[in-house]
Amino acid sequence: MLSLRITSQTQVTGVIGHPISHSLSPLMHNRVFEYLDLDWVYLPFDVAPQNLEEAIKGMRGLGIRGLNVTIPHKERVIPFLDEVSPEAETIEAVNTILNEEGKLIGYNTDVPGFVRPLKDFEEKLRGKKAVILGAGGASRAVIYALLKHFDLNQISVINRTLEKAERLAERFRGEGCEIRAFGLTEENLEEQVPSASLVVNCTSVGMFPEVNGCVIKGKRLLKKGQIVYDLVYNPLETRLLKLAKERGAIPIPGLEMLLQQGAESFKIWTGVQMPLDSIREELRFELEEILLAGHQHGVRRQ
Ligand code: NAP
Repeated sequence: MLSLRITSQTQVTGVIGHPISHSLSPLMHNRVFEYLDLDWVYLPFDVAPQNLEEAIKGMRGLGIRGLNVTIPHKERVIPFLDEVSPEAETIEAVNTILNEEGKLIGYNTDVPGFVRPLKDFEEKLRGKKAVILGAGGASRAVIYALLKHFDLNQISVINRTLEKAERLAERFRGEGCEIRAFGLTEENLEEQVPSASLVVNCTSVGMFPEVNGCVIKGKRLLKKGQIVYDLVYNPLETRLLKLAKERGAIPIPGLEMLLQQGAESFKIWTGVQMPLDSIREELRFELEEILLAGHQHGVRRQ
């Protein structure tokens, strides 16, 4: 239906990744273009690693206005851009490219995407401790966001591979907040989690198809009033979020970050605020349908 409206005036955006069939972004952006009656379109492009440079040259050559960048290109794309935002430079990952009359500028919207759902709790987190589970790419953006936008006094990074947690802690040390690294053991979880005001799951544990997985095994570790933020959004309500609810903690689902980072990219390309409050429920419903259909066919979306 959308293709009937496409003309030479239509602005083109999209996402590059490999594989790309799992991406939920085309649904999100195309729905919003339709809702706002904008003459824009968003397409998924499967770009193999060896074709990345050509794809970015193609963006410039074809006048594609904006691209999202996902696994495995977020770091490798940087040398092919003309400019990179300070955030993306520090995190060494770009997830959004803007084509400004041939000049390609890289951004990382995971940072504002993560921050926005937490902003209401800024005061509650002042001078408090956060536990970050995981030390991969998402953890890097989350730690940067916490240091930049919140006034915590301690961040504990807990990861299965201790060396990765140590490297991450080392990288952000000296930013005015104590950062400590721990291996993922029951003992460390018991010592660190109950005293944290914020717990963020940045591991892929709990993601479809292993939906019963949960980094925090015993629910007694979670406390009433704690904020429990799970970056995993497939399923929409993970086991960790269910445990958090049962304990009277405040759950923040990964879908919210997904929507917010998408809204941020949308604003960078179009200059228009995504009307998230008006379309959140519709998007949530449609994304849930897609995820459930994927579950029936064993499709893993991450
Ligand atoms: P990544 O770089 O591959 O890192 C994966 C992390 O998960 C590592 O810390 C890894 O530990 C840990 N891990 C994996 N399997 C584990 C297991 N069985 N037990 C314990 N730890 C395990 O991935 P990423 O890019 O950081 O993404 C992490 C998750 O965040 C994914 O589910 C992704 O979909 C989600 N995410 C969501 C959003 C959003 O908008 N909601 C944005 C970004 C990412 P090791 O270091 O020991 O391997």
